[in-house]
Amino acid sequence: MNSTPSSLPHIGLGWDTHRLEAGQDCILGGVLLDSPVGPVGHSDGDALLHALTDALLGAAGLDDIGTLFPDTYEENKNRDSADFVKAAMHAVQQNGLQVASVDCVLICDEPRLGPYRPAIRARMAELLHLCETRVNLKGKTTEGGDAKRITVQVVVLLVNA
Ligand code: MG
Repeated sequence: MNSTPSSLPHIGLGWDTHRLEAGQDCILGGVLLDSPVGPVGHSDGDALLHALTDALLGAAGLDDIGTLFPDTYEENKNRDSADFVKAAMHAVQQNGLQVASVDCVLICDEPRLGPYRPAIRARMAELLHLCETRVNLKGKTTEGGDAKRITVQVVVLLVNA
């Protein structure tokens, strides 16, 4: 018999990786970066919002982004990934939960994320109905080990609304 108190927080982990290609729009965290390379994807390729969506869905005990928004569906082609986060947030709220904090690691050699951190944090905070100080973002490089890829990890904590 499961007797876990419902008041305990829920943690969710999201992970995503996309190939980087020259000439692609580079949208990360809902922000368009000035970059010679961008992530390739069926949607707008926003690996950060994809990992965030999966972290939210995982914390809420729901199906993952690939199940809810298949990349075989024409309606998801070039889609704004903020739509996925909004849908996940709707599900979170339907389950009587809210986001308490989020922490992200973006691993890529380019683009350099530093100048865009404030804008990305602000957009993510807006999507999560959260104070910016509870959205954290870290950029790491592979030191040339995997220059043609961006990988993102996101951890989210949900608490009762
Ligand atoms: Mg993805």
